[in-house]
Amino acid sequence: MAEVFQSTSVVLPEGVRPAALLVGEERIAEVRAWGDVPANAELRDYGDLVLLPGLVDSHVHINEPGRTEWEGFATATRAAAAGGVTTLVDMPLNCVPETTDVEALAAKRAAAAGKTWVDWAAWGGVVRGNAEALAGLEDSGVPGFKCFLIHSGIDGFCWVDEGDLRKALEKLRGTGLPLLAHAEVAGPVERATAGLNAEGADWRRYATYLASRPDAAEVEAIALLIGLAEEFDTPIHIVHLASAEALPLLKAARERGVPITVETCAQYLWFAAEEIADGATEFKCAPPIRGAANREALWAALETGLIDMVTTDHSPCPPAMKRRDEGRWDLAWGGIASLGLALPVVWTGMARRGFGLGRLAAWMAAEPARLAGLAGRKGALVAGADADFVVFDPETEWTVTAADLHFRHKVSPYLGAKLRGRVKETWLRGARVFADDATQGNAAGFTSSARGSELVRR
Ligand SMILES: [Zn+2]
Repeated sequence: MAEVFQSTSVVLPEGVRPAALLVGEERIAEVRAWGDVPANAELRDYGDLVLLPGLVDSHVHINEPGRTEWEGFATATRAAAAGGVTTLVDMPLNCVPETTDVEALAAKRAAAAGKTWVDWAAWGGVVRGNAEALAGLEDSGVPGFKCFLIHSGIDGFCWVDEGDLRKALEKLRGTGLPLLAHAEVAGPVERATAGLNAEGADWRRYATYLASRPDAAEVEAIALLIGLAEEFDTPIHIVHLASAEALPLLKAARERGVPITVETCAQYLWFAAEEIADGATEFKCAPPIRGAANREALWAALETGLIDMVTTDHSPCPPAMKRRDEGRWDLAWGGIASLGLALPVVWTGMARRGFGLGRLAAWMAAEPARLAGLAGRKGALVAGADADFVVFDPETEWTVTAADLHFRHKVSPYLGAKLRGRVKETWLRGARVFADDATQGNAAGFTSSARGSELVRR
């Protein structure tokens, strides 16, 4: 029997309005006017709660296989489900083996089987010397590739220079698959770090860490990537843009039609360097969280569309690796754990700045879906797409506690954050996978079985 999901506030691509979504066989069959419910359909009327498309997070580090004690498919995808994320795309570096050839991709697929509460896909990796492996990964259905222009933190995932990038882009040209790049180059970071060490800087201070990763590292990397995207006419995607100083370069590139897209992350939109305590290494990520004026410039670039999307870059580690006892920013693992919180975090920031929910659906669902080759199937409430929904209460105010974190280790800079908006239910392909009401699932609100599956590009 068909089901109908109805609300006075449905976030459709053309705007937010009352509507009824007719669902059958895991997909949205039709978008109808509110109240236009077939006589034989089962109605789920959510009143004034918002119906959003299931979110797509194209930047997540799951760490399985090989570092499952850091994070894993089961914990990461449950955190995603609780946060309204119905599709995530896993990064290729923190797992062992790193996803840089088809054998490693097969190992990841085997590790994930039966353990995912949401749908997922895997980026392939571009590292020094693996250009010949890219065609195999492409044939195996990865939606694109990720590379680093600086040490990644993982010795087995080797960063690339311009020569390596040229070899990779030669292979990717014409495939339509994007190359995602961690856009910091080593030179400015090495020079800044050497200067700080020469003057005996205190590595417990956040200001020291921030100074060690200057804006110039991002700007130089982005200038190189723009030039290559233009020369090879091949899409390049800048992950986790943190420095607003790179925005003018990106604006000029976009205006002359260079195929370059840009994401920023929830942490760069929420926190500011001025507010980060010395020694608080749960805030460490790279590039670093910059100042409050920079944060507002990132919001402005989202408003104009220069920044296309918002992801989490969820990158957890065992708590001991954050070295909180010493509080040394140079020794702590770089990565912020946040999967499941981005929707209320970004929405709270948007509400303060006067944005509407339509923009949120574009930034956190439609655009990441497009990047991952999933447009039409994920990221929008349209006929033919998978029936992935978030039932969202945009008004409720709440404070983040450890009980709200569903990823493996309950360490996050968002603990204690006062947020607005709460995920009430998450639906994956027509079935509820999470409810913010323990009477509708197990104690934490999740369904008992994992029904997510891999989205293989065809
Ligand atoms: Zn990352």
